[in-house]
Amino acid sequence: MVFLDNASTTKPYDEVLSEVNRVNQTLFVNPSALYGNSVQLKTEMEQIRSNLVNKLGGSFFDSLIFTSGATEANNLAIRGALKKGGKLLVSESEHPSVYQTAKQLLLDGYQVEFVSLNNDGTVNLQDLITKLPGATVVSVMHVSNETGAINNIKEIVKLVKQHNPQTLVHSDGVQAFGKIAVNVQDLGVDMYTISGHKIHATKGIGALFIKKGVKLKPILFGGEHENGLRAGTENISGIFALNVAANLVTKNLIANQNTVLHFKQNLVEQLKQLLPQAVVIGNPVTSSPYILTVAVPGVKSETLLHLLEQKGFLVANGSACSSKNNENRVIRAMNLQNGLSTSSIRISFSESNTEEEITNFATTLSEVVKTYLNIVKK
Ligand code: PMP
Repeated sequence: MVFLDNASTTKPYDEVLSEVNRVNQTLFVNPSALYGNSVQLKTEMEQIRSNLVNKLGGSFFDSLIFTSGATEANNLAIRGALKKGGKLLVSESEHPSVYQTAKQLLLDGYQVEFVSLNNDGTVNLQDLITKLPGATVVSVMHVSNETGAINNIKEIVKLVKQHNPQTLVHSDGVQAFGKIAVNVQDLGVDMYTISGHKIHATKGIGALFIKKGVKLKPILFGGEHENGLRAGTENISGIFALNVAANLVTKNLIANQNTVLHFKQNLVEQLKQLLPQAVVIGNPVTSSPYILTVAVPGVKSETLLHLLEQKGFLVANGSACSSKNNENRVIRAMNLQNGLSTSSIRISFSESNTEEEITNFATTLSEVVKTYLNIVKK
């Protein structure tokens, strides 16, 4: 199988797997215990925390909370920051862990507004400005998991803080950290989410970066772990795995970026020749080099996905097919021509893919589409 669904998850690096093994065999004590081994483990955990803050571009005074993944980190950021009577602004492109949290908060009686998208998938800043009055928490993702669109978070933070310096800004950086340059101080965000399994660590570990001075309420109760913000024994091997993966992806950021950008550009060029009716969703030049979303009018996303799977290629039809007709909510919000939001597939790369895989994928995609459309026509 050729894995072209690296935005959904990634294969753990060998170095990560060795680390998980080492930690589970030798460091299995509870980090909250009081004996020497635990104290040593706790010290190492704190060193990892500082290293991750550093890799994110944070300062010595900032903090980071380990969670079970980005879903929990996004919930903690939003639910932890929003006070009674507060108003939440999120974008239409958010991952369900933010979007559905916002919908739930709306049902719970909070004021929530959704910021619209431009047709390249980025957040519409004019609409953001219009909806800012009264906002106490704003959450806009850095890179869209659906289209790869990159939001100008620095500009968004500037606009929000100009309006009200007290308003907290969170960004879901799951598809950004380790893939494009991230510096939380430069972006100016108050909170920033990352996830281990999107950067070749293991599943079940994520983290929320929290800027100095930002006060959150916990959403899980039952212990004083993680500075009282996240009860429960820490996923120690996950934390060590995240550290190893974060070190590798940040060290190899440019080299990996060049590799996947080459794949993406080649695929766009080959599809132009082989399947001219395929429509690239968003702007392939300004979006993340790791993600290419295309729609093939006349073929439903799910059909295409299964046809490709039969030929040995794994891609995604997006993570948010919750609405009727399997329509992609985020692509629908981009207001593109009819039909594209039901016929898109997301191809997402890793540096471990090969040129040959990409070329074979382009040929296979055009073949399965032609065969399918011929059968449907008859
Ligand atoms: N945010 C984004 C942008 C994502 O792509 C994902 C994973 N699909 C998540 C959040 C959730 O991550 P996790 O699996 O770590 O909960």
